[in-house]
Amino acid sequence: MANIAFIGLGNMGGPMAINLIKAGHHVCVYDLSAQAVIDVVENGAGTASSAQEAVTNAEVIVSMLPAGKHVTSLYTGENGLVNHIKEGALVIDSSTIDVASVKAVGEALAQAGIEFIDAPVSGGVGGAKAGTLSFMVGGSKAAFEKAQPILASMGKNLFHAGDLGAGQVAKVCNNMLLSVLMVGTSEALQLGIANGLDPKVLSEIMSKSSGSNWTLDVYNPCPEVMEGVPSSNNYDGGFMVDLMAKDLGLAMDTAVSSQSSTPMGALARSLYAMHSGAGNGSKDFSSIFNLFNK
Ligand code: NAD
Repeated sequence: MANIAFIGLGNMGGPMAINLIKAGHHVCVYDLSAQAVIDVVENGAGTASSAQEAVTNAEVIVSMLPAGKHVTSLYTGENGLVNHIKEGALVIDSSTIDVASVKAVGEALAQAGIEFIDAPVSGGVGGAKAGTLSFMVGGSKAAFEKAQPILASMGKNLFHAGDLGAGQVAKVCNNMLLSVLMVGTSEALQLGIANGLDPKVLSEIMSKSSGSNWTLDVYNPCPEVMEGVPSSNNYDGGFMVDLMAKDLGLAMDTAVSSQSSTPMGALARSLYAMHSGAGNGSKDFSSIFNLFNK
């Protein structure tokens, strides 16, 4: 069992850290939010007064932060962790961030003799709690193999996507598709409702037909169709609209850099930007359903 430092205990990081504790690892945690720390400490984590203190004895460091600027600043900014992590340690960043930040942080850590992989996840808060996340990893094969027992405590599908940054490319492709599916599912459900259908019945029909997809089957955007999903909880506690808008921005940057055509992704980015601008940034991304409400 490993000595692990876990930084970033939000909607995803909190339950991921708890699953590492359940698997028997010794986990020391840090977050800027005192409440987020308390929730995980109640489940058996050790605490530190700073991220620098949390990593002092760690063999493995896991971070789960909002965006590239947070990850860059944590590892290579003022008093960055690069100067506090033990040589030979492994850093796993599971945040969804831009490839340029991954490469810059990876290079700085490598110069200090610290291994680094990008390991963004899919599966949502439900997957984080259940320990069933998918991890898409970029980095050396050796680092991926070293990380496997740690990742297996938090997820069930572990993929080596390629070199450093490849995990992030896989992640933005996946989330671009997810956003398109969420928008399409939302407009189809609203079309049915506007024409007198019960959304529960319509969901059941489409989920057993060729329109079946993850957003319809396990993350239904229509309130009260499904229990335990954000749409039945006032769209709170899931994957924020602003985070999806960030991921779609990353997808567009990736498309521009490879001169790829992504018309559906571009439309979804615009819709999510508009939805965020209307004051829904901190709501779950399935709240895009309301955009099509007559
Ligand atoms: P969140 O906003 O709920 O949590 C982020 C946490 O990081 C917060 O608790 C915040 O206080 C903390 N934090 C920020 N800067 C910090 C710092 N310098 N030091 C310590 N703590 C710091 O976000 P989330 O939903 O948990 O998402 C985290 C990452 O996972 C994002 O990159 C997101 O795109 C990705 N992601 C989220 C989901 C989801 O369903 N929520 C799914 C897959 C991937």
